Amino acid sequence: MKTDARVVVIGGGVVGCSVLFHLARAGWKDVMLIERSELTSGSSWHAAGGFHTLNGDPNIAKLQAYTVSLYDELEEISGQSCSLHLTGGVMMADSPERMDFLRMTHARGRCLGMQTELITPSEAKAMFPLIDVSHFVGALWDPVEGHLDPSGTTHAYAKAAKALGATIELRNPVEEITQDSDGTWNVVTANGTVRCEHVVNAGGLWAREVGRMVGLELPLLAMEHMYLLTEEMPEVMEFNQETGRELVGVIDFKGEIYARQERNGILLGTYEKDARPWSPVNTPWDFGHELLEPDLDRIAPSLEVGFRHFPALENAGIKQVINGPFTFAPDGNPLVGPVQGLTNYWSACAVMAGFSQGGGVGLALSNWMVHGDPGFDVFAMDVARFGDWATLRYTNAKVRENYSRRFSISYPNEELPAGRPQQTTPLYDIMVRDNNAVMGDSWGLEAPLWFAPEGSEARDIHSFHRSNDFEPVGNEVRGVRNSLGVTEIANFAKYRITGEGAESWLSTLMTNTMPTIGRIVLTPMLNENGKLIGDFTIAKAGENRFQVWGSSVAQVYHMRWFEQHLPDDESVQIHLYGQTLVGLSIAGPNARNLLEKLCDAEVSNAALRFMDYREMVVAGAPCKVNRLTYSGDLGYEIWMEPTYQRKVYEAIKAVGAQYDIVDFGLRALLSMRLEKNFPTWFAELRPVYGAFEADMDRFIKLSKNDFIGREAAAKEHADGPKLSRVMFVVDTDSADVIADEPRGKRTCRRPETFTRDVCCRYRQRRCDCR
Ligand SMILES: Cc1cc2nc3c(=O)[nH]c(=O)nc-3n(C[C@H](O)[C@H](O)[C@H](O)COP(=O)(O)OP(=O)(O)OC[C@H]3O[C@@H](n4cnc5c(N)ncnc54)[C@H](O)[C@@H]3O)c2cc1C
Repeated sequence: MKTDARVVVIGGGVVGCSVLFHLARAGWKDVMLIERSELTSGSSWHAAGGFHTLNGDPNIAKLQAYTVSLYDELEEISGQSCSLHLTGGVMMADSPERMDFLRMTHARGRCLGMQTELITPSEAKAMFPLIDVSHFVGALWDPVEGHLDPSGTTHAYAKAAKALGATIELRNPVEEITQDSDGTWNVVTANGTVRCEHVVNAGGLWAREVGRMVGLELPLLAMEHMYLLTEEMPEVMEFNQETGRELVGVIDFKGEIYARQERNGILLGTYEKDARPWSPVNTPWDFGHELLEPDLDRIAPSLEVGFRHFPALENAGIKQVINGPFTFAPDGNPLVGPVQGLTNYWSACAVMAGFSQGGGVGLALSNWMVHGDPGFDVFAMDVARFGDWATLRYTNAKVRENYSRRFSISYPNEELPAGRPQQTTPLYDIMVRDNNAVMGDSWGLEAPLWFAPEGSEARDIHSFHRSNDFEPVGNEVRGVRNSLGVTEIANFAKYRITGEGAESWLSTLMTNTMPTIGRIVLTPMLNENGKLIGDFTIAKAGENRFQVWGSSVAQVYHMRWFEQHLPDDESVQIHLYGQTLVGLSIAGPNARNLLEKLCDAEVSNAALRFMDYREMVVAGAPCKVNRLTYSGDLGYEIWMEPTYQRKVYEAIKAVGAQYDIVDFGLRALLSMRLEKNFPTWFAELRPVYGAFEADMDRFIKLSKNDFIGREAAAKEHADGPKLSRVMFVVDTDSADVIADEPRGKRTCRRPETFTRDVCCRYRQRRCDCR
């Protein structure tokens, strides 16, 4: 066995083999895969082999489309067949709500260039003859779906990787991983130690154990999953003979069933409500090519629906039931990328659909390792999207919820209950008990979304159209805009940057010039390619001391970037506050009148100007105050230690009563920021857009000192951006924009007056309104 390699990939399932292939194809030849047993010794060998392109997240859908498009090339390089059956598939809607969901999926798919079609139940039956059309109202046809041979495909990746120079070591478990002070990893295996620059954890069912070798607890869990194979079915064979075609794949959301043709029968799998985790804490090392005990009782409710919807199945004999485990992250998306706090330790785990996503994961990770950037917007599967609040037990609750809802309708603005509340601020009880707040999960923290009217139940009634939050959120907005409102803002990322090198370091990372003491700036952050990777509010609190606010969901993502770019001389220190600093925002024309009554310090417009920062006492509590609001109104962000939050909140409410103060939630805040055309990280500001495309011109100071991404930004500026973020009003009275809506034939115009249906979106430069 080789004792040195540039990269060691741990795990020879479909994901590890794909990573190996993509690294070798990108030109890194000195790459090695170590597998404890034979290839496909985890979940890969017993997969049902289905693949599809559609995904709730458009960026993941793109990577799935790439995976599917790769198989021909893979067969060519490796000479190994993947047994590809590109049959296409139908998704069946049993209700108008499900049809709305399919319409949305279709519209988004079209936006991505997918050739999906909305069809009738009879048209679906013409492709999958077992359907009883009386149970359905419509369907979505996707031509890019099918199935393949999981083992053949994994071997095709492996053979192609070897053909490009990679090496594979079988029957050799990795037992320990250590790192030298110069960053070199020692991968200790049963057959000796390999020294390498990079380690990739593609341990699949054992990814948690491989993570623990470096002190990492990855948020993933294996679930049992069952599918069954029927005996030969005459209905299937007749269809094949008559049409000369294979049956297409089918998803029956109501039954939580997927089905397709397998030989002359049907393969039918379920995502049952009674979902079962497998090995919740430790995966046994002696588990291998065996299956779990089937439990047909557990999937009986789904089968009963299936027999009604596909009556011929009831008479088909069951040939075999497969029950095997595979892994999920709390939101069902993979965990990919460099792990914060470790150098050159990469995650390629929790890939729940290895044959739809494995290629995309391999491509993104290899791009990241070789070029320093995944090359796509991969935040939805970035390992950095979870914090340490995503513990094993939280993950367990969320994964069970996610599995059991795999074929449930996901509504806009839907908040899911499992594992919550995980983190709360001191105001939680007041919000829920006294204020009738509907709470949401904001990166593991409970945050008020909106306030239900007194006497009504505080819960969302979900819909693809306007839901029950519309009027109350409108009242909150009017309350703020006309007088005064208060909202919790604990759900921001908060950092303190100190040290002699703090200012010059921040200035090298950020596009804007740094503020003087007591002042605030807004600034994007770019990567080397000039793409947006962050958007921050920065206050200079004192000599060599800065307070920084950013997106909550991106705090591990940003900490990873910050740490990668820290100088070696310890001249800069970063402190991430987490929930040790919480906040309240007061906004509206009466905000200053209120603050005056809560403070002894002067807060006139001259003393506390727009974009000023002060450390001052508010309502008797030591606070940090920013004179700005995200709603765009006159107002203040007031930050304090959690121990003071109740006191400050109660004083605000008591004194604010004379101004008819309203509590407002996150939905009102986001609505108001949209009206003011303030973009937000990860809605309009994403790592695929340039700073000028995003209309951030006034925050990009090309003439200041050099900063990361400056050259690319200067080029974008000189060439003219290819896209532009514009704001327009969508005329609607029943359904509001969410995100990723397709571009229709609507007229695009700058609004004279702002309404709630304002939408900031990127459009090709030559859009209708120009
Ligand atoms: C019943 C069932 C049906 C499925 N159907 C589909 C489907 O239709 N379509 C689809 O896309 N997906 C399907 N899946 C999911 C699919 O199987 C997984 O997405 C995929 O297998 C994940 O691959 P992986 O490489 O991440 O993990 P694994 O296949 O688990 O591979 C991990 C590998 O790492 C090795 N390893 C672990 N630790 C070490 C160590 N310390 N040293 C050396 N080697 C180590 C293991 O031996 C193993 O070979 C199904 C899964 C199941 C269980």
